[in-house]
Amino acid sequence: MPGYTHLCIPGPTNVPERVRMAMNVAMQDMRAPDFPELTKPIFEKVQKVFRNTSGRVFLYPSSGTGAWEAAIQNTLSPGDKVLMSRFGQFSNLWADMAIRMGLDVDVIDCEWGEGVPVEKYAERLKADKTHDYKAVFATHNETATGVTSDIAGVRRALDDANHPALLMVDGVSSVGSIEFDQDAWGVDCAVSGSQKGFMLPAGLGILSVSKWALEAHKTAEFGRCFFSFEDQMKHNDNGYFPYTPATQILRGLDVSCDMLLDEGLENVWARHRHLASGVRAAVDAWGLKLCAKRPELWSDTVSAIVVPEDKDARDVISTAYSRYNTSLGTGLDKVMGKVFRIGHLGWLNEGMVMTALGVAEMAMIDAGFDVKPGSGTGAAVAHFTGAAGRAQTMA
Ligand code: PLP
Repeated sequence: MPGYTHLCIPGPTNVPERVRMAMNVAMQDMRAPDFPELTKPIFEKVQKVFRNTSGRVFLYPSSGTGAWEAAIQNTLSPGDKVLMSRFGQFSNLWADMAIRMGLDVDVIDCEWGEGVPVEKYAERLKADKTHDYKAVFATHNETATGVTSDIAGVRRALDDANHPALLMVDGVSSVGSIEFDQDAWGVDCAVSGSQKGFMLPAGLGILSVSKWALEAHKTAEFGRCFFSFEDQMKHNDNGYFPYTPATQILRGLDVSCDMLLDEGLENVWARHRHLASGVRAAVDAWGLKLCAKRPELWSDTVSAIVVPEDKDARDVISTAYSRYNTSLGTGLDKVMGKVFRIGHLGWLNEGMVMTALGVAEMAMIDAGFDVKPGSGTGAAVAHFTGAAGRAQTMA
């Protein structure tokens, strides 16, 4: 089909030209004496994106799932009791991994569309006088349902209970896009990947750890090799890696971190809020609802849009793909067929969001939805141009 193919999924996200060009270099020697000149500043920049001033970051040639595993293996021991919650496909998969790795997982099941049950966490932590929980897990941004959870609230729950458990946070679809403050929230292991807010191809598992996680590592008893902190630190301290690094992606990461830090993290977060609000204006005008249960859970990086009960979201997604050259995100597992997702994160502006909304609107109309041409797109235009605000002032 002529014209661009539009990628409107919540990761992998669009790779900026500057980043792509930075990666378009000949293979190079990862043991060369000047290699640390490339790598050392990257570690520092990534730490800044996480707002981690006390610990360090690990960059694995894996994906986010690898960084989930690295966090567990390096800081915990088989049989350790941990607190987790499931409210979407990714929180579900992390819990599944923890169970399969041999942790004693106390898992709180919530309806999909809810977020981390902070009050239940607080109750359990207060009741745990003997400090049996060694870690508390939280998925910051549940990409499957478009839900952002209150990580500062989880930290408060730990502090109020005077509980020493580690705080493990999945920031795969939040870091580098929406507010994430590892220092302020006391996050011990913050997991991410290269293909979302970092605006890179998939291929890096990024793990940012606190000094307490490094302390816990000294007594953690899981067997480990590929993800071993010791092996990484021994080499990273000199700017090298224990095995072949994904050098081209590291080159991209250097530039993508520059882009995020030059724009300013607060501005990046505000841009995502602005773009997400445009999407939400469209959803509202279409007469549809988000999967996220309440406005305080709405994610600024991805919207999971619930279709009417007599419709199948897969028809919208397949029409968007085959007729309009556009990928919208599918519903995963329990919400398969019930939602389609629009990713609005990474290297993105209003025009790109309007493409996603225009295609979603056309595909819904093609699929027989009762959606008026121009309704959602019109609402987004009004939002982006400020016309919505002007109309309100006049009314
Ligand atoms: N956690 C969240 C919130 C995600 O969205 C994803 C992937 O989309 C993952 C974890 C898994 O990351 P990866 O696919 O990079 O292994």
